[in-house]
Amino acid sequence: MTITLTDDKRKAAQEVADTLGAARYIVLTTHVNPDGDGLGSEVGLAHLLRAQGRTVVIANPTPTPARFDFLFRDLPELDRSREAVRAIRKADTIVVLDIADSTRLGVLGAEVSGRQVPVVCIDHHASPGTLPAGPRFVDPSVAATGELIYEIAVANDWPVNTSTARALYVALMTDTGGFRFSNTHPRTLRVAADLLETGIDPESIYLDVYATAPEGRPRLLAATLETLVVEPEYGLAWVTVPPGAIERYGVTPDDLDGVVEHPRSISGVRLAILFRELSQGRIKVSLRSVGDVNVATFAHALGGGGHAKAAGVALPGTMAEVQAMILTAAREYLSNTNGS
Ligand code: 5GP
Ligand code: MN
Repeated sequence: MTITLTDDKRKAAQEVADTLGAARYIVLTTHVNPDGDGLGSEVGLAHLLRAQGRTVVIANPTPTPARFDFLFRDLPELDRSREAVRAIRKADTIVVLDIADSTRLGVLGAEVSGRQVPVVCIDHHASPGTLPAGPRFVDPSVAATGELIYEIAVANDWPVNTSTARALYVALMTDTGGFRFSNTHPRTLRVAADLLETGIDPESIYLDVYATAPEGRPRLLAATLETLVVEPEYGLAWVTVPPGAIERYGVTPDDLDGVVEHPRSISGVRLAILFRELSQGRIKVSLRSVGDVNVATFAHALGGGGHAKAAGVALPGTMAEVQAMILTAAREYLSNTNGS
């Protein structure tokens, strides 16, 4: 173990453990369209809690993407997302991971807010959030929520076995884009090193997460990249998922993970955007930035959120309407943010 914790963090981690130690039926949940960090953090925490003798299930507002099924191999009954509302109603303690805002809990938002039970929040987003009161373990400076789960284990002397380590490694690897993004701090790699020390195999985890794609994923990527528009004068580039493409290629929104890195990779681009139509006449806007452009501020002003270099928002309207609005705002934002 190579990391140390501040006294404040240690205390907060112990408060979380005290709350969970008193619980009889713990439900872990994360944001809609759960990603590697949300799921890895849930699975890692579930292993830790089971080892402490707690009863714990996972109940997410939308289904687990198939490429993360491997996380559940050694915990077959753990994922109750198909009956998530029932699980939340049964919980005597809820843990919300990788998000602080009840609006991103989809159908579970009202259920979580309506229960009179402790709601623990473990998250690395900057937004203050709208969850009911409960112990908080929040730190926007860490790369992934999985890093916070590791800190909670360290602070409470909970042993980290290979199953826990694998899940938390997935969390770190996915939220840092394979330890490439600017959120990859020395401490992130120290935590990753501690996880590898347990004996997990990084290549097999990489293959599980990234090299088990359905044929539709590269086809969806190709169709989406066809739509690329670049405005070098603003440092702006965007792509749009063609209407119905996700269904046509038999994939899920999770298969769009990483697509926005392509417009972002163009020399001179400071803001890259992916537009996707959601089912209910709403458009999902994924924002990625380079250098000192802060997309969290941009997204927040529109009712969304995220991190300085990766943020998002969902807006009502047609694709044409939302694109016109976002692109106008983006050009203005970029004009006011010099690239120094
Ligand atoms: P992505 O573009 O990969 O969906 O999300 C990037 C980051 O932005 C994530 O950390 C996520 O929490 C945040 N984000 C994405 N969409 C939304 C949204 O609709 N609302 C809020 N508050 N945050 C979002
Ligand atoms: Mn995360």
